[in-house]
Amino acid sequence: MNTLQNAGFEAFIVGGCVRDSILGKVPGDWDITTSALPQEVKGLFGNTVDTGIQHGTVMVIRHGCGYEITTYRIDGQYNDSRHPEKVEFTPSLEEDLKRRDFTINAFAYNPERGVVDLFDGISDLNNGLIRCVGDPFRRFDEDALRIMRAVRFSSQLSFKIEDETEKAISHFADRLANISCERIRVEFEKTLCSPNPSYVNEYARLGLGGYIIRRYADRCFDRSSEALYPQMTGEDLKILRMAAFCKNLTPDEAREIIRDLTFDNRTRDLTAAILKYKDEPMPNDRVQIKKALGEMGLEVFGLVQEYRKAAGTYDEAAAETAEDILRSGEPYMVSHLAVSGNDLIDAGVPLGGQVGDCLDELLDAVIRDPGLNTKESLLRIVKESL
Ligand code: ATP
Ligand code: MG
Repeated sequence: MNTLQNAGFEAFIVGGCVRDSILGKVPGDWDITTSALPQEVKGLFGNTVDTGIQHGTVMVIRHGCGYEITTYRIDGQYNDSRHPEKVEFTPSLEEDLKRRDFTINAFAYNPERGVVDLFDGISDLNNGLIRCVGDPFRRFDEDALRIMRAVRFSSQLSFKIEDETEKAISHFADRLANISCERIRVEFEKTLCSPNPSYVNEYARLGLGGYIIRRYADRCFDRSSEALYPQMTGEDLKILRMAAFCKNLTPDEAREIIRDLTFDNRTRDLTAAILKYKDEPMPNDRVQIKKALGEMGLEVFGLVQEYRKAAGTYDEAAAETAEDILRSGEPYMVSHLAVSGNDLIDAGVPLGGQVGDCLDELLDAVIRDPGLNTKESLLRIVKESL
């Protein structure tokens, strides 16, 4: 900012970073808005990347960090509910702030001017309100992604959506049909992973459910998942909460919607796996638990346990048995056997399906009696059966 100001331009930090700073949170990134044109910004800084030059954004790399510097701009006519036909640069900070979505996202700050708050964003911050800058009907008409963003920010900040803004959301619900699945997924995921995951049901209350999940929306936006979401934390939060969201679907139905939403394959596969096993009885029986571990694999087994903890169907004793099995290193998968398929072929088992069947039988024996898991005993069993 000093570099820009010393060259005679205005410069402010703007948007989310000012909002977060006022709230006492550490911003994820620092955006700068300036009266300098992109070419002028590039001239002043050696190390820049044209991240969004057509919208006036240049990224400056400093201390290993990227700072986006965007020229004050006015967004032109919107024709597709998402992209302005053209952007126009302006020398006016006020014009730039007017194009921003919500009052709490439209602050600018520099040390000389302090916080610039043209739309009473400070009182909305204090009152916990998401309110559009200007007429909400016009703002959602321009860009329907803002509809998703309103709910997302309300969940991240525990804010309420102001009445007129909320009315406009429902009014333009069908415009979400013009927004790409990817953009919808990003906002939906941020809501689901926020401190208020139950706000995903706000999407349905506001009439957006069917545009987010084009199939099975009624079964997914289900208030009964609200008790589960907050108990799911940690690294795999997204997968666990997605499983709770899809808990009334079959694994195949869940795969469909997760794929449509453009989630990654790991999220899709693991969510479907949780759904497949979450309601299977797991008695506290050492042999049964080893079989379950072998069938699910360790990662899915762990996730299913996490899911059950949240759902209140977790069996403490069975979990301790599982811990004990893992600690003791008892075999529960074919790969844990002391013999390989090749050993069986060498011992005379005919090629083809029989090798696999034979390995399965040996695993079954070893699961019941881990002491059998030596090459010698296993080959003896094979020879006897041959
Ligand atoms: P986050 O913490 O999620 O990054 P953010 O407020 O920084 O929140 P960004 O998506 O990074 O959100 O956008 C930066 C700023 O750009 C916003 O604060 C807002 O002023 C403006 N902005 C972003 N998207 C839109 C939009 N669709 N319509 C209007 N203004 C927007
Ligand atoms: Mg940001």
